[in-house]
Amino acid sequence: MNRCRMGPGELGFCGLRENRGDRVHSRAGTSRLGIFTAYHDPLPTNCVADWVCPGCSDAGYPGCSVSRGPERGYKNLAVFLAACSFDCLFCQNWSFRENTEMLAPLRTPGELTDMIDERTSCICFFGGDPSPQLPFALAASRRALERAHGRILRICWETNGSMNPGLLRQALALSLETGGCVKFDIKSWDESLNRALTGTTNRQTLENIELAVVLSRDRPDPPPIIASTLMVPGYVGADQVGAIARFLASLDPEIPYSLLAFHPDYLMDDMGTTTARLAHECEQTARSAGLSRIKIGNIHLLS
Ligand code: SF4
Ligand code: SF4
Repeated sequence: MNRCRMGPGELGFCGLRENRGDRVHSRAGTSRLGIFTAYHDPLPTNCVADWVCPGCSDAGYPGCSVSRGPERGYKNLAVFLAACSFDCLFCQNWSFRENTEMLAPLRTPGELTDMIDERTSCICFFGGDPSPQLPFALAASRRALERAHGRILRICWETNGSMNPGLLRQALALSLETGGCVKFDIKSWDESLNRALTGTTNRQTLENIELAVVLSRDRPDPPPIIASTLMVPGYVGADQVGAIARFLASLDPEIPYSLLAFHPDYLMDDMGTTTARLAHECEQTARSAGLSRIKIGNIHLLS
């Protein structure tokens, strides 16, 4: 999505594509090989969609959830894909870049699906970001669903939303079919601010959200699309949140929107956390913009 143009031997923005002999070569993130680590999280877990998803709330029962309310006794397989199409100044997981560079651990879809057992009821692909490695994640998801033989196994994505739209269609189709969701993290509304904070554009993300909302209209429950924004003090406040909320409300006022408190990290480790005052101002602004389902997340970080 960054339309990288690499000179001979150079890598693209995410570090996975390379100009080898004047052809684009994927070092990983193909349907055969990916760079990921994974672990099980007992449900209910602290997922950004936990307040509206079938794994942690009463949404989607009985078709998409094994129980009314949180699926106690079941677990989520959290898959951390170690590459990203953004380079956020505040990234909480920035150390994954070392894995991207070293191509480690380089693994197959089968190694991922071997981790799924009878008590795994959802898979969440996050990172880094799923975008640069979607062919791998799609291949692994399809294989996992084949092995699940029709039992409940939701496929969910937590993403900056910048992926190729054709791949988004495939990822969303798997979520819609399995009761999963796509969680779009929208960093800012202004493109110039997005470039300053993440190193790249937010246009693809916004276009993809529009596409995903249109494609998921036939499955309103459980919510197929969830949005979130990190309230970065001095950068992402009520003006940005208000504009994002107006955009979301124009697509569907029922889209759940999580406003996340900021924690200093990476190149923004000298800043304070989000204040409770800013969080409530953002919440009010999002509500006035027309959204009805809003949550402030990471409240333990509010100052
Ligand atoms: S992976 Fe999906 S179903 Fe599971 S906890 Fe996260 S949002 Fe809920
Ligand atoms: S999109 Fe997420 S993982 Fe990627 S650089 Fe930004 S904060 Fe880090």
